[in-house]
Amino acid sequence: MNMRQKWLAALTAAVLLVGGCSGNNAGQDAQQAQRQEERNEQALTAKRSEGQTAQRRTPNLAGGKESKVREPHPMTLAELHMHYPTTFRLNGPLDKRQVSLTFDDGPDTVFTPKVLDVLKQHNVKATFFLIGNRIEAHPEIVKRIIREGHEVGNHSYSHPNLPKLKPNQFHAEVLRTQDLIARHSGYRPKFIRPPYGAINEEQVKWLASQGFTMVNWNVDSLDWKGLTADQVADNVLSNIRHGSIILQHSAGGHGEDLSGSVQALPKIIKKLKEDGVSFVTVSELLQLPKGFKGAGTKTAPVK
Ligand SMILES: [Zn+2]
Repeated sequence: MNMRQKWLAALTAAVLLVGGCSGNNAGQDAQQAQRQEERNEQALTAKRSEGQTAQRRTPNLAGGKESKVREPHPMTLAELHMHYPTTFRLNGPLDKRQVSLTFDDGPDTVFTPKVLDVLKQHNVKATFFLIGNRIEAHPEIVKRIIREGHEVGNHSYSHPNLPKLKPNQFHAEVLRTQDLIARHSGYRPKFIRPPYGAINEEQVKWLASQGFTMVNWNVDSLDWKGLTADQVADNVLSNIRHGSIILQHSAGGHGEDLSGSVQALPKIIKKLKEDGVSFVTVSELLQLPKGFKGAGTKTAPVK
């Protein structure tokens, strides 16, 4: 072994030694870290239970946690119905063999007259939730709806997504349509149906303050999907109960076909009549006035 070889051997031994030591240190470090972690965990658990004990000494918030209750998500329809059961209706009394047919989005000159023909043929009165700008476009159809003994409700002026509107826009959508309906029917409707069934809590409160009752539905025909007559009839008949409010449409968006809905009507009417169910308007079903005389919605109810 020359000098150079000796030196290399010494260096290798030193490296091995250091390496060995370092390996040993790593094992100890890991054990220490684990112990420290256990101590931290114990301290945290102790602190938590201490915090919980301290909290229990303070009376709890009776209405639930702020973080939950005040979360700014809009209320679902079911929640709104639960919170405002008299203002927000989905059905009538369950103990009477009565149901209401309701038709949204009219008037138009394509499907609304066909719906009216079927209703007339079967001597059934229904409720039409009308859109203000369509009333302006087809006043003669509104006159026919009224003349043939049907009821009308407010379905906004332009069919917007109401929760997205500012309060003044929302009020205008409602009040403008009230005036238009009053011009043809002689009453300002008590019943309003928000487009898409969408509404927020502030809006529900305002409508309640104005004397409105919101009428949604508990039987959805899904007729706007362009279904066949059998599919529409099946959607209605398989979900019907006493007191049901049935949603159909008497007009659609441009290009939407409601033929299936119109053709399903005789089948729905015949079947339910056979079962001893009678068809009544929403005001009869809910035993409320259908509207009001004069400018306010709270004065002079019209039966
Ligand atoms: Zn609608």
